[in-house]
Amino acid sequence: MRVMNATPSKPKSPPFVCLRCNQCCQGRGGIVMRPEQIAPAAALLGISAGEFIARFCEPHGGDFSIICGEDGQCALLGPEGCRIHQAKPDICKRWPFFEALIKDAGAFEEAKLICPGLKPEASHEEFRAYALQELDKESR
Ligand code: SF4
Ligand code: SF4
Repeated sequence: MRVMNATPSKPKSPPFVCLRCNQCCQGRGGIVMRPEQIAPAAALLGISAGEFIARFCEPHGGDFSIICGEDGQCALLGPEGCRIHQAKPDICKRWPFFEALIKDAGAFEEAKLICPGLKPEASHEEFRAYALQELDKESR
């Protein structure tokens, strides 16, 4: 009897791979840091928390939002990318795994227009499963 070998299935590429294009480093008023996150970020730039606030922040309720330039780019975006990468705000760490994108296929399709790391051919279901898996890894 001839035994057929099962053809190994090709691993599917993930629906999101960050291309480090920094197109998401925009959003006046939306890049928010909590007060306790300021000192670690300031330390990465070799400045005091007070100087960090004076140069890069504006008040946002009890928190701070990072200012943006005329072009809409975050003031902390440098030629090599985020200047406070290891201490960047939660919203920056979490993108694109936002609840709105996980729940809403329309929001996911809109996000594809601004983030080239989201594969155009990826379905919302694929993204949703991948996002939940990544968030689960982070929470461990
Ligand atoms: S826009 Fe998307 S691909 Fe570009 S840096 Fe942001 S997350 Fe990465
Ligand atoms: S803090 Fe860093 S990651 Fe967040 S928007 Fe600014 S440059 Fe981008």
